[in-house]
Amino acid sequence: MEILKNEAANLIKKSKYTMAFTGAGISVESGIPPFRGEHGLWNKYDPQVLDLVYFLNNPEHCWNYIREIFYDFFADAKPNDAHRVLAQMESNKLLNAVVTQNIDNLHYEAGSETVYEFHGNSKKLKCLKCGKIYDAGDIDFENIPPKCVNDGEVLKPDFIFFGEGIPPDAYADSFAAAEKAKVCIIVGSTGEVTPASYVPRTAKQAGATIIEINPEETIFTSSITDIYLKGKATEVLNQLGELLF
Ligand code: NAD
Repeated sequence: MEILKNEAANLIKKSKYTMAFTGAGISVESGIPPFRGEHGLWNKYDPQVLDLVYFLNNPEHCWNYIREIFYDFFADAKPNDAHRVLAQMESNKLLNAVVTQNIDNLHYEAGSETVYEFHGNSKKLKCLKCGKIYDAGDIDFENIPPKCVNDGEVLKPDFIFFGEGIPPDAYADSFAAAEKAKVCIIVGSTGEVTPASYVPRTAKQAGATIIEINPEETIFTSSITDIYLKGKATEVLNQLGELLF
């Protein structure tokens, strides 16, 4: 494992374009559970509350759960060392972009600047009628569903629901990064969510070396991963950070 970490650090130091591709696993140590797996949110909640058509027909019912999951529960989460090491790598010109599937804003809060949010961000809400964007911090979640001041329409969190497309800019930026990447570091992703999982696959096809950090093997591990660093995101990224800074 030590040899693998040294090899990974050396590749990152030499790389002309390095990207990270992060999933729910990087935020587990910030207290946000993943959706899938033994302790996943879908064991407790019905994913239907994030289905666009169901939401549009049942906004009040859905908002009860959305508030609990994303605004009571996620709200206090702070970035952890894994987010911070990636931000430090960017400051030290060792990382060019983070493509994240996460909607928790923690990469920005850790100080990363080039972040492509493939699934959107829960810290913003959007009026589906006029497009007005609201900061979650300005919303009174005692009164749900929250409504637009312009037209009284129900607001929707500005992350994608089942049945919605990927935000076009994030999609284009993420695949452009993948095409350029010489190294792609996958952190905490099952690889089961498409089209997000095509991002590291595109990087691999374009010639990048794939480094994967996860306590469990995934469908990436046996297919595209070149260097598998088994372990929690904070442990492994802290160790990589020591080799890099
Ligand atoms: P996922 O594909 O994001 O995978 C979670 C992965 O994290 C698993 O492979 C697991 O082994 C790994 N993991 C668990 N603890 C870890 C740790 N300490 N360090 C590193 N890796 C760890 O799966 P999902 O949870 O089903 O998410 C699906 C989609 O839902 C994501 O792509 C994301 O868009 C969204 N989601 C976002 C958040 C968030 O914003 N924090 C949370 C849950 C889900």
